[in-house]
Amino acid sequence: MSFLTLPKLLGKLRSSQKGQARRSIKVGIPKFLNIWGTAPFWVGFFDSLGMKVVFSSDTSEEQYRTYGKGRITMDSCFPVKALAGHIGELLHKDIDILFVPMIYSLPSFLRGHVMDTLCCTRVMMAPENIKAGFLKEKDEFKERGIKYVSPFVPFGEPELLPKYLFEGLKPAVEDLTYEEVVEAVKEGFASLEEFDKSMREKSLEILRWCVKNNRPALLVLARPYHMDPGIGHEIDAEFQLYGYPVLWYNYLPIDKWLLDWLGISLDISDVWTSSYSSNTNEIIWGAKFASRFPWITGVIRLSSYECGMDQPTFTPAQRIVESSGTLFFKFGELDETKPAGSVKIRVETIVYYLEKYSQDIIKRKLSRLGEVPKELTL
Ligand code: SF4
Repeated sequence: MSFLTLPKLLGKLRSSQKGQARRSIKVGIPKFLNIWGTAPFWVGFFDSLGMKVVFSSDTSEEQYRTYGKGRITMDSCFPVKALAGHIGELLHKDIDILFVPMIYSLPSFLRGHVMDTLCCTRVMMAPENIKAGFLKEKDEFKERGIKYVSPFVPFGEPELLPKYLFEGLKPAVEDLTYEEVVEAVKEGFASLEEFDKSMREKSLEILRWCVKNNRPALLVLARPYHMDPGIGHEIDAEFQLYGYPVLWYNYLPIDKWLLDWLGISLDISDVWTSSYSSNTNEIIWGAKFASRFPWITGVIRLSSYECGMDQPTFTPAQRIVESSGTLFFKFGELDETKPAGSVKIRVETIVYYLEKYSQDIIKRKLSRLGEVPKELTL
C-alpha cells in the first residue's frame, strides 16, 4: 500500500476542453509555497478561461543554483528563497504570462471553526520580494515578452476573488470579462473540492487497510509545500520504503462518523486559541487526530530552517501527540541541502521504535475508544 504523493497527482488534474479560443495563451505558475495546497483551483480556473497552465519543476538545489542564486534581495527561509529558482526556470519556458499570486488566506477545511485561515506573511510577500531580484539590472520579464501578474488572493473571502483576479489579469488578457472570471472562480473551487475529496477518500482507504491488517501508519505534520521534494526532501517516502503508509494531515478524512468515534470535532479552541494561521490550525488539528486514531502510531514533524511561524507550534503539537503515547519525531531546520545520510540513520532509528512499540500503542489507544465503526472495517 502506498500513498500517491501530490507531485504525481498534479499530473492527473482534470482539464476540460472549454474555452479553446485562448488555448494559445500559456500561463506559467511557479510550483512554490501555497500553490501546493491550491494547484487544483488554478488549473480549474485557467482551464475555464481557456488558458493552458505550465508549472515549474519541483524545487531542487540545481534549479535554485541555475536560475535563482543572486536574485535574492532579503534574508529568508529557503521555501521563500526557492521561488527565485522557479521564476527563473519559467522565464526560460515558452509562456506568455507569469502568474505568481500573493495568497493572503487559504481555503481551509477548518474555516468557520477557527479565527482565520491566514498565510504566513513571508508567503504572501514572496512574489514581490523575489520579483525585485529580476528587476535589479533590467526588467527581465519585459525583455522576454512575459507579462508578470501577481494578484492579491484572499481565499478565505471567496466572494472577493473575482474582483482581485479580474483586476490582476485584465492588463495581460485584454478581452477578459468580469463574468468569465466569476465563472472561472466557481470552476476553480469545484476542481479543488473534487481533488481534496479524492485525496480524503484515498486516505480513508489507507486507514481501512491499516485497520484490516492491524498495521501502523505515520502522519506527517508539516506545511503543504513540504510535499515538494526539494523542500521536504522526500522524508515521508523513506518511511514508505519500510512499508509504512504515510498520510498528510491536510488530506485526512473528516467524516462525522469517524470524528464522533474519535471524540473530536473541527474545533481546536481547547488546545489553540490564537487560531489565525491556516497551516498552523490544521497542524494542531492533525495532532489531535493522530493522538486519537489507534493505527497512527507515529507522527513526523517537518519544518524549515529560519521558520518563525512554526516555532510556537512545536511544543503544543508534540504534547498533544504524546499525550496518548503516540510517537513523535521532528525533522526541523530543513534547508536546500538534502541531509541524505543523517535522514537515513534517523529513519532507521525511528523504524526500530515503530516496530517495537506500535502494537502496544494501537491496543492502548483502542482501549480508550468505543467499538470500531463498521465504516472503518469495510
Ligand atoms: S511558514 Fe515558515 S518556512 Fe514557511 S514561508 Fe513562513 S517563515 Fe518560511
